[in-house]
Amino acid sequence: MIPRPIQDALQKIVGPQHLLTQKEDMLTYSYDAAVLDPVMPSAAVIPENTAQLGEIIALCHENTIPITVRGSGTNLSGGTIPQSSGIVILTGRMNNIIEINEADMYAVVEPGVVTATLAAEVEKRGLFYPPDPGSMAVSTIGGNVAENAGGLRGLKYGVTKDYVMGLRFFDSQGNYIKTGSRTVKCATGYNITGLMVGSEGTLGVLDQVILKLIPAPKARQAMVAVYDTIEQASETVAGIISARIVPATLEFLDNFTIRAVEDFSKAGLPTDAAALLLIEVDGHPAVVAEEAEQVKALCLKMGARTIDQAKDDAQRDKIWAARRAALSALAQLKPTLVLEDATVPRSKIPDMVRALQDIAKKYRIDIGTFGHAGDGNLHPTILTDRRNKEEFHRVEQAIEEIFDKALAMGGTLSGEHGTGIAKAPFLEKEAGYSSILFSRRLRAALDPKNILNPGKITGV
Ligand SMILES: Cc1cc2nc3c(=O)[nH]c(=O)nc-3n(C[C@H](O)[C@H](O)[C@H](O)COP(=O)(O)OP(=O)(O)OC[C@H]3O[C@@H](n4cnc5c(N)ncnc54)[C@H](O)[C@@H]3O)c2cc1C
Repeated sequence: MIPRPIQDALQKIVGPQHLLTQKEDMLTYSYDAAVLDPVMPSAAVIPENTAQLGEIIALCHENTIPITVRGSGTNLSGGTIPQSSGIVILTGRMNNIIEINEADMYAVVEPGVVTATLAAEVEKRGLFYPPDPGSMAVSTIGGNVAENAGGLRGLKYGVTKDYVMGLRFFDSQGNYIKTGSRTVKCATGYNITGLMVGSEGTLGVLDQVILKLIPAPKARQAMVAVYDTIEQASETVAGIISARIVPATLEFLDNFTIRAVEDFSKAGLPTDAAALLLIEVDGHPAVVAEEAEQVKALCLKMGARTIDQAKDDAQRDKIWAARRAALSALAQLKPTLVLEDATVPRSKIPDMVRALQDIAKKYRIDIGTFGHAGDGNLHPTILTDRRNKEEFHRVEQAIEEIFDKALAMGGTLSGEHGTGIAKAPFLEKEAGYSSILFSRRLRAALDPKNILNPGKITGV
């Protein structure tokens, strides 16, 4: 519990209805989408504006109270699991789109803005904010920036870091820091913006984000390629990339996932297919028509049983809704779902798919695999029951082997879900001890009292 005088001070800052201390509320903020033990914080506080946010951070610094900021809590790495002695800052009330500048093509938003809300507002003006995590209907821009979130369009358009032009944030002591600018180019000072993206609430608390917007593509063509073998589908991914075609989206679903999605969403997917590729090309209408033909020919050449093009927007939306339902569909099957995102160079996708099949057999576990194959970023999803200790031990061994395989192929532990608590113990495998030490020194210098999201990324 935080001392009464500090509770009173927090209440004075945000008003009584925006300071939560009841056990039921603390339970709500004790976990996120990762499979980890929950920890109840001492309080949750819901600021409305910059001034309140700054005052809360300064108060916590003065009294050495750990802070965990929470957007929608959808992260998959334990990034919002708080300290029991600490508070959670909820960003839900800081959800204003401050500016959408059509002439200079940028937006300025508060951290609690929901990703899909921004995308829709921007689209109304003929502009485009491409990063589209599968969770975009609920995830926040603050959470996206702090995790460097990816999405389905990463292959052509990149990830969140490619759209962050500048930030306004509070450091651990409550100082207000400005980075970047509203200009396309900015070479002033250190690239603090780059440092903050993906920092998971450990280096500062975001208050405003300046995001780059781009013109919306004039045409789009979505397609579904159906395969009788998983190898043909994964070889097609490598084939499309090496043919120098860059679809906006190139997603993979294995049979396990196809059946779960079909059962869940009745999207009309072929449940007898070994694998599907969901592909979308976009851009100028003439280029889209040409690239769609190239992709079609390539898929058929690589062994696709069929390839169907979406006839209209409604069919296109149905395809992507089915893909976005993958995680929820798999989650229905067993009590515990562990979603991994070890990522490999794109040409290694066929090797990774084979490795995942072997690992599932070796450890006698169910793995549904789907994901952003065009980015080399598959999501092997293990279905289990954490209460079954013997089985869960096999799951943990399988996860470690997935990491080892990805690293041996020149890959990375996380393509987009971040390090948090879940991957902190494995960071040394990829980055080495010196890198961890460097990160810890950086953190100690910026946050000497270690109040900003302790335990995440660097393990301290
Ligand atoms: C069904 C589903 C699908 C998903 N699909 C994808 C996907 O396709 N791609 C992808 O990359 N991820 C995906 N994710 C993971 C997750 O949605 C992303 O990591 C997302 O960016 C988290 O946003 P959030 O608002 O929920 O953040 P939270 O989970 O609340 O927080 C994430 C991190 O950001 C920090 N944070 C939040 N706000 C601030 C702030 N204002 N200042 C400083 N730090 C802050 C938190 O402390 C925490 O460390 C998916 C998750 C689910 C459940």
